[in-house]
Amino acid sequence: MKYGLLGGKLAHSLSPAIHKLFFAYTGIKGDYQLLETPAEALPAMLSRMQGAYQGCNVTIPHKVAVMPLLDKISAEAEAIGAVNTIYFHQGRLEGHNTDYFGFAKMLDFNNIAAVGKTAAVLGSGGAARAVVKYFTDIKVGRLYLVTRNPQQVDEHFYKIAPDLQVIDYQQLEAVRGEVLVNCTPVGMYPHTDSCPVKTEVIAGFNSAVDLIYNPSQTLFLQEAARQGKKAVNGLFMLVAQAVAAQEIWQQQEYESQLIKRIMTELEQSL
Ligand code: NAP
Repeated sequence: MKYGLLGGKLAHSLSPAIHKLFFAYTGIKGDYQLLETPAEALPAMLSRMQGAYQGCNVTIPHKVAVMPLLDKISAEAEAIGAVNTIYFHQGRLEGHNTDYFGFAKMLDFNNIAAVGKTAAVLGSGGAARAVVKYFTDIKVGRLYLVTRNPQQVDEHFYKIAPDLQVIDYQQLEAVRGEVLVNCTPVGMYPHTDSCPVKTEVIAGFNSAVDLIYNPSQTLFLQEAARQGKKAVNGLFMLVAQAVAAQEIWQQQEYESQLIKRIMTELEQSL
């Protein structure tokens, strides 16, 4: 079976390595290819793939542009406003967003329970949309979106979470809660000496989650660990969103231990 990743520049993608490990562990005979595609070639590429491919992932810059080209969009992808997985199913193109499921599986695996509690999300980009949608769906008690410009936050966030409290980094200093999630690129390689928040902010939360996986321990996570907090990086989510895509393509569920095994092997190659 053929699978692939549709995107702009893909040279540094870890997806082929993750899916290769998935195929090795499950015994599925699959092939996962990088399909660099310019925006204007997207419709023709999707038509060519139909029949030949079982499914594909979608990344920057096509996650939104691909949506009008699909026959069906899942509820979470519709709400988030982005598709990262396509299933070629019975002649139809179905769009999904597995970042949402990857984030859910990561919290679950690490025993971070946010139902009825306070969560704060840093950054207002695409990743934050999936995280805000998940926290809204599980019914956190209070949900903060932290942005440098509260006045300019995308209206779409209020559609996802009507009770969302949009605040700036100074206002965050007074917030106490269960989980603080970094959905900004601050601290990512090569800018590893940056942290998105002051150390006092981390002190107000029980758990710190960073969607960044390179480096594995950002300054944000190092500080959280130093303070004795639960500190989780984004590698589990990255692998989990890939396995969630495979669950859609294979129409089968896989245990979190499989994600963990793939993650451990991947960590050694990073
Ligand atoms: P993005 O759209 O480029 O940025 C997200 C938000 O971060 C921006 O909208 C901005 O929000 C804030 N931001 C950007 N630069 C900043 C700076 N210098 N200082 C403070 N805030 C800044 O990124 P994304 O696609 O949402 O991804 C965010 C991060 O998550 C990336 O590191 C990405 O690699 C990671 N990610 C990981 C996974 C995974 O599976 N582990 C999945 C998706 C994304 P404001 O303007 O509102 O402040």
